[in-house]
Parts: sequence; structure tokens; C-alpha cells
Amino acid sequence: MNQVLVLGAGQLARMMALAGAPLNINVIAYDVVNSNVVHPLTQQYQSLSLIEAIAAADVITAEFEHIPTDILSLCVASGKFKPHSDAIKAGGDRRIEKVLLDHANVANAPYYIINTRADLETAITTLGLPMVLKSALGGYDGKGQWRLKTHDQIESVWREMALCIAASDNQAIVAEKWIDFDREVSLIGVRNAIGEVKTYALSENVHTDGVLSLSTVIVGDPTQQRQAQLMFAAVAEQLNYIGVLALEFFEVNGELLVNEIAPRVHNSGHWTQQGAETCQFENHLRAVCNLPLGGTELIRSSAMLNILGQDSVPQTVLALEHCHVHWYGKEKQAGRKMGHINICAATPEQLQYQLMLLGQLLPAQDFPTLPR
Ligand code: ATP
Ligand code: MG
Repeated sequence: MNQVLVLGAGQLARMMALAGAPLNINVIAYDVVNSNVVHPLTQQYQSLSLIEAIAAADVITAEFEHIPTDILSLCVASGKFKPHSDAIKAGGDRRIEKVLLDHANVANAPYYIINTRADLETAITTLGLPMVLKSALGGYDGKGQWRLKTHDQIESVWREMALCIAASDNQAIVAEKWIDFDREVSLIGVRNAIGEVKTYALSENVHTDGVLSLSTVIVGDPTQQRQAQLMFAAVAEQLNYIGVLALEFFEVNGELLVNEIAPRVHNSGHWTQQGAETCQFENHLRAVCNLPLGGTELIRSSAMLNILGQDSVPQTVLALEHCHVHWYGKEKQAGRKMGHINICAATPEQLQYQLMLLGQLLPAQDFPTLPR
């Protein structure tokens, strides 16, 4: 029996717990918001302090990268934390992430770090407009971002950015050149302590209002798959990474640029629960517990649809063939990630047909990315 403590008690910790059970891996979670050790499925408080949970754990890992530094340091000091804290820091600070990508020699959007109004002027001269501005710390799901399109927006955007910089210690803004991408794709992979790497099939990701909506596995593009794998290996190697790592890319004229990395299991890898030999959650646990990695082969065409702000779907969805609903046990809240639907088929064409059937069962206003 392995005891794994996960920092963060959301759906990713929950799905790790579900995937770990068959391997006798017991997952408990630390809710960083309320400072409580909880059961990742029931959210029930465990009568354990964080210090006791750290002592009881064989391995400590994380479901998100915005971990308060004092908590991360405590966990690292125990010698049980995986991946290395450098990876968490790179995922949580866009300045560190950019340096990492440059060092790993992988293509990414040109950027400039902004601390002052004068820096913003230099960024505009260097990168041109339009540009994307992202807070260095704390951004997720498109939050903490601005789009600067024309010169007359500079004043109002700077006012907001200055407030953001002043609001927290060590905050800055990373300006990025606007990338006119053809599509967004991501690669999920896993690396173990002895440097073995396995990657899943690429998926194409469609966002609505900055939040992932639909991920569809890409089949039949071995050149792009290979390109993504090489970039993945370079980044994972640079970090001496242990566990599941996600790379988000922009595709421009068939070439990939890394947008960002996530040092953890990732929303665009949820399809692996039904579409891959071993799901990302199990493989993360295998890697951090020093067990052999599981196969990452695609077993059928698959897609994942996020359920945002809804706590039910018609039973006809459950009745669809090769369709699986995963709820997160959360209280309903507008826009909140409440669950996801994995849907599979024997071929990509049949998968598109399945997605169209799903589109007939789910309202367009809540699921705008389904084909109809
Ligand atoms: P996540 O939920 O993936 O953590 P995030 O808030 O960390 O998101 P990004 O992935 O950096 O932020 O950006 C969110 C979205 O904004 C991207 O998926 C992409 O659609 C768009 N975007 C980001 N950077 C650029 C860019 N340089 N050029 C054009 N569009 C961009
Ligand atoms: Mg992103």
C-alpha cells in the first residue's frame, strides 16, 4: 500500500484517487484554500494536520501549480515531493516558464517582461500590437490576462495591469506577441525517475471564454506527433521531471510553438480515462510511486467535453454508446468545471458522428463547441 498526499483537493486529486485504488495506492488531499487534509472523494476532513499528513505519506505530489511557497517548502523538505519543485515553480510563474522553454530550446511566443510603464512601451516597440499580456503569477483559465489591440487602449490596460502588479508580492506581467494560430493542441506525457518517457496522442483543444471546452484526439498526423514528442522530451529532461506533464501548443502553418506547460495531470488529458491503455491519473501515480509506467497507446478515437456550470445532463447522454460521464461532486456554480463527458468511437469519422449525436442532446448555449 502506497500513501500519496496530493496538494489540492479538486477534481484532479479526486480522479487520482479513483485511478490509484486498483493499485492499492491510497490518495489523501490537502485543501490549500481551507488548510484541511480531506478525503479526495467525499471531501470529509481527516483528523490529520498537514505536518502529520506529510509524515504519513510515502509520496507527495500536486494537482495545481499555484502552491503557497511555505507549503511547497515544507513538502520539499520531507524529501517526498515529486515532481521537483522547479517544475511547480515554472508552471506557476510565467517568467520562469519562459526561461525554461528558451533553455530547453523549444519554440515559444516571443515575450517581454513588464514591471513598469516604460517596460510596456518597450514591449509594444519590440513585439508590436496586438499583444497578449499575462500576469506572471496566479493566472489560470484565461484569468489575469489582457488583450492589447490598439494604441488607444494602452492607458486603460496599463491602469489594470499596474493594480495587478501592486496587489501581490513579486508580481509582474509577461507580454507575448500575438500568435495567429491555426489551432491549439496539447501533448500529455509521463516521465519516471530513470528518465523513461511515454506520451499520449496529441489532442486538439477548443476554448470558450478562456476555458477549455472540447478536446479531441488527433489521429493520423505522425509528423506533428513526433515534433510534439521531441519538444516534450526536451522540457521534461530539462526539469528532470517525474510524473505527468502537459504541454499546450499553438499550431501555426503546421509548426508547433509551446504556449505553456502544466506540471501535473491536465484537463486536455481526461480523454485518456476511456481512450488510452492507461489513463493519465494512473500513470502520474505510477511515476511518482516509482512503479513501472503503463502503456499510453490510443485504444480508440476519443474526445472530452467539459461540463461547465451544470450539475445534470439528460439520461439520454448516459444511454449513448461509448459515452461516459464523470462528475466531480461539486456544488453548482456558474462557469465552474462540474464534470466532463468522454466519448469514443472506432474511427475519427464515427467520433464526429458521436459528437453530433451528443450535440442533439445538449443545449447549444451551454455546449457551444459541439458540432450540430
Ligand atoms: P489554462 O487554463 O490553460 O491554464 P491560462 O489562463 O494559463 O490557461 P493561457 O493558456 O496562456 O492561459 O492562455 C489562454 C488562452 O488565450 C490560450 O488557450 C489561447 O487561446 C489564448 N492565447 C494565449 N496566449 C496567446 C498568444 N500569445 N497569442 C494568441 N492567443 C493567445
Ligand atoms: Mg492554457
